[in-house]
Amino acid sequence: MNQATDEPVTRTAARPEPRTLAAFEAAKGFMPRDEGLALYAAAVEAGALGLPLLEVGTYCGRSTLLLADAARRAGVTALTVDHHRGSEEQQPGWEYHDPEVVDPVVGRMDTLPTFRRTLHAAGLEEHVVALVGRSPQVAAVWGTPLGLVFIDGGHTEEHATADYEGWTPHLAPGGLLVIHDVFPDPADGGQAPHHIHERALASGAYTPGPATGSLRVLRRR
Ligand code: SAH
Ligand code: MG
Repeated sequence: MNQATDEPVTRTAARPEPRTLAAFEAAKGFMPRDEGLALYAAAVEAGALGLPLLEVGTYCGRSTLLLADAARRAGVTALTVDHHRGSEEQQPGWEYHDPEVVDPVVGRMDTLPTFRRTLHAAGLEEHVVALVGRSPQVAAVWGTPLGLVFIDGGHTEEHATADYEGWTPHLAPGGLLVIHDVFPDPADGGQAPHHIHERALASGAYTPGPATGSLRVLRRR
């Protein structure tokens, strides 16, 4: 709830275009549909600020599609940051590895080509700027206020903390901070996203908004 007005942070259940939703369902990635729809609603609401919407953790563009659709609707740009070499748990031999996204020449993961196909298929390329690099390094040179910061990158304490510390200072007042993979019970998943969510709440700088699955939305005061 928005404590100032007693209204839900996300009032309108805006829906993506059917073509976007079809591309989302077809895309590789780690975003369930209900959480994706909640992300979309947050992105549409944040888009009203007229500022860019930023994602950390592009992977193959599954969630990026939703930010791109919301950005098109709001007339803003979606930004998405990834080094495209995959997180720890996506490397060969680990639980979330997909051999289809290995570059055979380099012998390492490269999700950038798949990401570009995902956006192209949905007709959303022109609404997205892809930032290819390490998240803290991009954040360190960033200077534009953001309407939304969506954190879905590396899930170690080191990476989640760096994403929180690097990007939230760029979030405009009234902007939305969205965190994925928040599992308060350690039995359900890794704790790093939960820890940055707790930290955001404890900072006093945010009003808590809706929770959908492991997705959390907070509004910057
Ligand atoms: N949002 C995606 C899933 C992202 S998976 C979806 O909807 O499917 C996490 C991504 O974060 C991986 O692609 C990985 O390469 C990227 N990543 C992890 N640590 C990173 C870092 N420090 N800098 C940039 N990208 C990082
Ligand atoms: Mg995730």
